[in-house]
Amino acid sequence: MKFILILALLLFSNCAMPEDQFAEKIVIAHRGASGYLPEHTMESKAMAFAMGPDYIEQDIVLSKDDVPIVIHDIFLEEVTNVKTIFPERNRSDGRYYVIDFTLAELKSLTVHERIHLGTGKTVFPNRYPLEDSHFRLHTLSEEISMIQGLNKSTGKNIGIYPEIKNPGFHKENGKDISSIVLKVLDSTGYSKKTDPCILQCFDAIELRRIREELDSDLFLTQLMELPEGFENLETYSSYADAIGPSIEQLILYAHGKSDAEKKSLIQRSRDLNLKIHAYTFRKDEHPNFETFEKLLDFSFRELDIDGGFTDFPDAVKEYFK
Ligand code: CA
Repeated sequence: MKFILILALLLFSNCAMPEDQFAEKIVIAHRGASGYLPEHTMESKAMAFAMGPDYIEQDIVLSKDDVPIVIHDIFLEEVTNVKTIFPERNRSDGRYYVIDFTLAELKSLTVHERIHLGTGKTVFPNRYPLEDSHFRLHTLSEEISMIQGLNKSTGKNIGIYPEIKNPGFHKENGKDISSIVLKVLDSTGYSKKTDPCILQCFDAIELRRIREELDSDLFLTQLMELPEGFENLETYSSYADAIGPSIEQLILYAHGKSDAEKKSLIQRSRDLNLKIHAYTFRKDEHPNFETFEKLLDFSFRELDIDGGFTDFPDAVKEYFK
């Protein structure tokens, strides 16, 4: 009797599979809950954590004194008050580089919503107000410590998804960013593919180096951008575990294809053992789709990709439900 019951349960759960088509798909909090609080602040990471994504993203740039800082660009002036605090510290191109400031100097800056340099206006007008921002920059170690602390106090197991930014630029400035970041990850418990950490990079030579020369066993995502198509998947699969295309690349790929043909991309990736984690899902910016939901339908139903970077982790989680 017990056996029949178990069998019935197994059969039932198999039948229920199609209903649960989003169970394996992952939500990555892009720069935190950046739709609600300034990107890459601790506050936006804590808010993202509370929304229960699978991973929280960190973009990494080194300080002058070689500390991995969580910030999206090698420049400071679009998200901080660096021009007010250190007006003379720009390079001859007028830009203020993270790499020219020590951790202590970076900590003295305040962080605000991303602005357009030309106009000084916020990039996303309906997000957190620009005025009166008291947020601060922080290090990769500090963010890991908070996420691990929250995992402990909430009983969750939310992962990190760090990105090595501009390794070529770091090298020109005499720094090996990947080695430094890998050391931090290793010392905080992230070294194997089964650890809750995915390392990403746009630079294919560097990501291969991370696997082969730096001998990392982490889950690796090869980021991609236009004008590249999906012709290099086999090469990527020789060292990476996932690809990270932009939504625009997916749209171009799907253009004029039937529903069955659209699925062939995910089939090819699965055959090569590559996941697809696309960027960036924004509730307040989806130029090619009438609604946010239509963008999610296209990506997660029609193409059936495995995960997405989103500024609105709560909205994508809600969609998966
Ligand atoms: Ca990123």
